[in-house]
Amino acid sequence: MNKDGQNVIICKNCGSNKVNFTGSLSLILLFLGIFLVCIGIWIPIFGWFVMIPVGVISMISSLPAMLYKKKNFRCTSCKHSFKISNIEYKEYKQAIK
Ligand SMILES: [Zn+2]
Repeated sequence: MNKDGQNVIICKNCGSNKVNFTGSLSLILLFLGIFLVCIGIWIPIFGWFVMIPVGVISMISSLPAMLYKKKNFRCTSCKHSFKISNIEYKEYKQAIK
């Protein structure tokens, strides 16, 4: 797998092809949210007023990324974050094989 050799996804900010896939972040947020709510229910005060709200917020913030089915990428050169479509992502997966 030659990750540096792909030229399907180019950073829109600096033109570098050294990009990292960060799209699984929404999935992590969703599971973290479910986890916090499930645990928070059983912990009085701290669980109810801290863990559950934080869990709900992280679940909600994971939803837009899931709905739009966009893949999040981050440039390793300039730390610029951007989104690409599923079609572009499939081409990227082919390119780094
Ligand atoms: Zn860049």
